[in-house]
Amino acid sequence: MSQKASRRNRIALVAVGALVAVPALVLATHSWGGYHWARTSNPFNLKTVDSVTSAWDSYLDTSIVDWSKSTVLNLVEEAGQSTNNVTKKCSAPTGKVRVCNNTYGNNGWLGIAGISITGGTHITKGYVKLNDTYYNTSTYNTPAWRNLVMCQEIGHTLGLDHQDENFNNANLGTCMDYTSNPESNQHPNAHDYQMLEQIYQHLDNSTTVSAASTPGKGNGFGVVDQLDQDHPAAWGRLVSRSKSGGTEIYELDLGGGKKQVTFVVWTLEEAAKRRGQHHD
Ligand SMILES: [Zn+2]
Ligand SMILES: [Zn+2]
Repeated sequence: MSQKASRRNRIALVAVGALVAVPALVLATHSWGGYHWARTSNPFNLKTVDSVTSAWDSYLDTSIVDWSKSTVLNLVEEAGQSTNNVTKKCSAPTGKVRVCNNTYGNNGWLGIAGISITGGTHITKGYVKLNDTYYNTSTYNTPAWRNLVMCQEIGHTLGLDHQDENFNNANLGTCMDYTSNPESNQHPNAHDYQMLEQIYQHLDNSTTVSAASTPGKGNGFGVVDQLDQDHPAAWGRLVSRSKSGGTEIYELDLGGGKKQVTFVVWTLEEAAKRRGQHHD
């Protein structure tokens, strides 16, 4: 190989390296996958259906107030049913987010959030499930744990990723940071609001946000709604795990630009099992 050719190859390699680096840059902005609600103007109103029981009402209210401080969006609470058959499934109406609690079982997670994607990047609906099987125990039955997980999972339904991948460093002062000491990670911080401004800077020429005032029945991708979303078998491929092991992100590719993304917050015990495990 001539010197010139090998130099060309080196340049080509550098170019490939730059391409490969792009996903890492996307992660560093703390948007997950560039996923966002399509809308034609800001700030947009996102209906948040209250399917939680009274034990969770104040935490849902706090998170709604917190995230609505964003300049680009308002969460608008809508009354929903919190009966067992609604919350077991927690199926979200199209264009809205449903938040539920129930005793979902000893499956290791404190909370999961799911978003449905169409067209590669647009969120069409979201749900949050909070697992009372653990919140009924003394370790997690605290305002700090309830707030952290409620706030973080709702943040995911807006398209946000985690801020911190470490476990033993100081808390970052945002609910998007998993920690064993949640007391100082109770609310979004300035960086979360900046990220929302970045994610929602552009406008779309259509909308995936529902303006309908009726709660609506849960609906969506038939195949996903048939699955038991409480277990990893339904979540697709593991695509991200924090160093703490406390949070994971899964993606189920449904083809044609449709995806289901699941954001998991594990218990401390489950996090310890997953910490340091290689996931690829
Ligand atoms: Zn868009
Ligand atoms: Zn998370």
